[in-house]
Amino acid sequence: MPFKTMGLADPLVQGILATGYTAPTEIQSQAIPAILDGKDIIGCAQTGTGKTAAFVLPMLHRLETVPQKTKKTKTRALVVTPTRELAVQIEQSVRGYGRFMKLRTLAVYGGTRIETQIKFLRRGSDVVVATPGRLLDLIQRGAVNLSLVEVLVLDEADRMLDMGFIDDIRKIVAELPTERQTLLFSATMPSAIKKLTEKIQKSPLSIQIGRQQNPIETITQHIFPVPKGQKMDLLLHLIEREEMSSVLVFSRTKRGADRICKKLKQNYVEAVAIHSDRSQRQRLKALEGFKRGQYQVMVATDIAARGINVEGISHVVNFDVPAYAEDYIHRIGRTGRAEMTGDAMTFVSEEEVLSLRQIERFIEHKFKPRMVEGFAYTHRVNLDSSPKRKDGKKSKPGSSQRKRARVKQGPQSTSDQSRQQSPAKKKSSFKRAKKKTSGQRESTFRGKQSGSSKPKSKSMKKSWSKKKKTSAQGRKPKND
Ligand code: AMP
Repeated sequence: MPFKTMGLADPLVQGILATGYTAPTEIQSQAIPAILDGKDIIGCAQTGTGKTAAFVLPMLHRLETVPQKTKKTKTRALVVTPTRELAVQIEQSVRGYGRFMKLRTLAVYGGTRIETQIKFLRRGSDVVVATPGRLLDLIQRGAVNLSLVEVLVLDEADRMLDMGFIDDIRKIVAELPTERQTLLFSATMPSAIKKLTEKIQKSPLSIQIGRQQNPIETITQHIFPVPKGQKMDLLLHLIEREEMSSVLVFSRTKRGADRICKKLKQNYVEAVAIHSDRSQRQRLKALEGFKRGQYQVMVATDIAARGINVEGISHVVNFDVPAYAEDYIHRIGRTGRAEMTGDAMTFVSEEEVLSLRQIERFIEHKFKPRMVEGFAYTHRVNLDSSPKRKDGKKSKPGSSQRKRARVKQGPQSTSDQSRQQSPAKKKSSFKRAKKKTSGQRESTFRGKQSGSSKPKSKSMKKSWSKKKKTSAQGRKPKND
């Protein structure tokens, strides 16, 4: 069903067209008519499926077509979402889709001055998008009146549960009128969320897009076994040789994220780190820079990256295997959004095999690991604890990996030819990558990369030879 025939108010249809959407995504086709019908819904959809518009459009339709009960602007729609970045993005979407409506919107989240938010709340806001902790703080200060909320949206409910927000959510819901429409979205459905929906929703309609727990199909997943101490070199190797125009690298820890970022910069890769030790201003600045293409790589921790919505992320790299299997889905869902394709690369050291097995069980998929051609491994990492041959004999050490190295999965791995590229050629291949995957960024990217190919390859060569020496001496490489 095209947007026009869904019964959305005219200013909204104009807003959608101005955003550039031509047809609804699957979740939008299913959720919008049900929400317009006044139903509560549970939307089980993975990231990147277009779920924001699926709830924002019918929510705004209500604001446009049902007159408000008071003369003064009161909050009629409340969206609760786990992270600051998501709150900002959703509020931007609300403003974008509702650009032809008379609408006051506000995003409230922690890490910024609460007084300014209180001031804006006093002026009145039709739509409030909030993170749970800050909203509760505002409620406790009497700064926000939610008594006239008609639509409540709980976005990324499973994330909010993971982050320990479930009690805050219950307290927030207690502030709302019982007569309201409640829309809940979650990529996964843990039992605590099911219980919550029973308490706060009325005969909700469940909408499931794609098989639950199955990463979206537009993403090619690669598993690279690599010694722990060589992960940094492998990342640099791939960035140098593959066409990686816009890369989101995940680190389990904040210190790790900073370390990776520093190493990238030392190797003339435009990079920025985003994690909870950085101020809200720094995080937004980093995100904006990454969106504009000022940075080729953004290194993030799980919490900071939740809900990051950047179009055209070509690669997600799991520098560390995520500790929780669900995080894997959330991480790789940052690429391949809205019917674009993307690559997710996971670096797995011997110590992380168990976490990898957990992910495989969770998504019900056995990965085929592969080695990166042309990369000088110090030793082969065996991801199978007891590799066996079909004939029952024990396989020779390294033979299973050799076999796996031949398995071709997804985009072609680095060839010997590209290994011998001259620095100038490398530079142009990066430029080509930018052109291919993010046309609009081409003009804004002015990284050192484009003007400094010589020192780049020199320093990389240096770091690699240093690494080889260190490894040969049996010492732990410094950059791990
Ligand atoms: P979401 O899952 O809401 O984070 O959306 C993922 C991406 O899909 C965002 O970049 C949206 O702008 C984009 N998107 C949402 N709906 C549509 C649509 N109907 N057509 C094209 N892109 C869309």
